[in-house]
Amino acid sequence: SPKATRPEPNKGVMDIAAYVPGSDKANPNVKLHKLSSNETPIGPSPAAVDAYNNCANKLEIYPDGSATELRDAIAKTHGLNPENILCSNGSDEILGLLASTYIGPGDEGIFTEHGFLVYKIQIKAAGGVPVVVPETDLKADVDAILAAVTERTKIVFLANPNNPTGTYMSDSEVRRLQENLPPHVMLVLDAAYAEYVRRNDYASGIELVSASQNVVMTRTFSKIYGLAALRIGWMYAPAHIVDAVNRVRGPFNVNSAAIAAGAAAMKDRAHIDKSVAHNDEWLPKLTDALTAIGLKVTPSVGNFILMHFPEGDDVHTSEAADAYLTDRGFVLRRVAAYGLPNALRMTIGSEEANQGVINALTEFMKTT
Ligand code: PMP
Repeated sequence: SPKATRPEPNKGVMDIAAYVPGSDKANPNVKLHKLSSNETPIGPSPAAVDAYNNCANKLEIYPDGSATELRDAIAKTHGLNPENILCSNGSDEILGLLASTYIGPGDEGIFTEHGFLVYKIQIKAAGGVPVVVPETDLKADVDAILAAVTERTKIVFLANPNNPTGTYMSDSEVRRLQENLPPHVMLVLDAAYAEYVRRNDYASGIELVSASQNVVMTRTFSKIYGLAALRIGWMYAPAHIVDAVNRVRGPFNVNSAAIAAGAAAMKDRAHIDKSVAHNDEWLPKLTDALTAIGLKVTPSVGNFILMHFPEGDDVHTSEAADAYLTDRGFVLRRVAAYGLPNALRMTIGSEEANQGVINALTEFMKTT
């Protein structure tokens, strides 16, 4: 083969569609309500902000490469062994580390039709083959996932609850999935929104990780903990997986401010309860209000909702609604890249933001 005339990326990289984060661009003349990235309207714990500020006097010192304080705080809160916890620069980093550690060229990584886009990107970046599995009623389907497993499958990525649909898989179904996976396949349960879920038949995956050798649970401080800017994620995994990922991660992948603020946030249970209460109040209110004006809302257990604009209506499209809302300062998330061209995802925001979206969409649906 002819010699390359310039450095070329690994196979597969150039046909990755880069992840486009939720926008914060709206009409500059009105107040901005960013509802595009599932950030919390409650903000972080004040104790986390204090811990962050205290880091300013030791910026010349490297972070603790083991993030011991943070792992201990997580372990204590969740009743886990800190040896089974690994922290990262956002849970996105963990997803990438798992892919690059376990997937090689030609290996397959499975995720579902409307699953989180980072899975596909990380599988491809690792040289692997992304395998997309159909969903049923916007929900992941155990049998469809199992049917896609081959000898080359290395990882099944499952967001539970899923972003952007807001749907979840019950604990018994997750267990059925794990029980029927061959032992060489890793099941990654991405529980970024676990704290918001109020269903008796839901489990984040902690017990399943503890009871098996091929399950990993990932979590984030970007959502209910209100620390998205600091980029903190973690995984709970069997020791052999923690050991493998520890070999390849950056030695100081979590910075000192993130370690200190994350540990403080973990300990502030009252703050989390407040955020859950706000979500509990607005999830049904928003769902009902948007349903009442003719939108279809997928039942959500997260801190966001997926609204569908009427089929065959050329006026009230998701694109037109997005433009209408953005002009009024409300930035939602278009989800066409997730195969949902006629829907918008909305983060549950402050009372002012939520009511503002309801009012604006009520007017929008009356436009002709
Ligand atoms: N998983 C899911 C399902 C998500 O929605 C997100 C945030 N968009 C992440 C992981 C990544 O979160 P972070 O990197 O901020 O921890």
